[in-house]
Amino acid sequence: PDHDVMTYRVAVLGAQGVGKSALISQFMTSECINAYDRQRDIPKEQSVSIMLNGEESELQFIYVGGVKELEKDPSFAALVMMYSVVDKASFQKVEQDLQRMQEHGLLRNRAVIMVANKVDLARSRAISTQDGKCLACTYKAKFIEISVGINHNVDELLVGILTQIRIKASLT
Ligand code: GDP
Repeated sequence: PDHDVMTYRVAVLGAQGVGKSALISQFMTSECINAYDRQRDIPKEQSVSIMLNGEESELQFIYVGGVKELEKDPSFAALVMMYSVVDKASFQKVEQDLQRMQEHGLLRNRAVIMVANKVDLARSRAISTQDGKCLACTYKAKFIEISVGINHNVDELLVGILTQIRIKASLT
């Protein structure tokens, strides 16, 4: 039955071109999710239903332009901060956004997941794994390297987002 399915809103942030829409499209076709109920058509929001540890949850992914939007909307359970490992400016944007969010208290009581995409483009890499890990560690964020292009770690990310949300929810 539908009534005990928890729904969580997940904000997705990142510079243009890092792969946000590619990622969410990939989530929609992921093997670890159930088919989403198309009757509940929510414009501009994309939802996936996940069965994890015998419990179903729904994640709603919403593109968020920046810190201001988050201040107006406190309903997000998780923040996905995405950059591309071949785009140094996109990494710097994550760095700036995290700093501003910290200053505005927006990281508290939320799962924060830093996602480094496009690891398939190894020869063009501009941001090392270590640099990513260091930044994530500074803000107590989870860190994962993925490639939407070759479907590397995409299911793991989806499960990781829900796991972090459940951990935070159990603490508050
Ligand atoms: P958005 O602006 O953040 O939504 O980025 P898009 O999802 O539109 O992706 C921008 C471009 O990067 C597209 O051409 C994607 O096909 C490409 N792209 C996304 N993920 C990957 C990846 O993991 N590897 C490679 N090589 N290209 C990717």
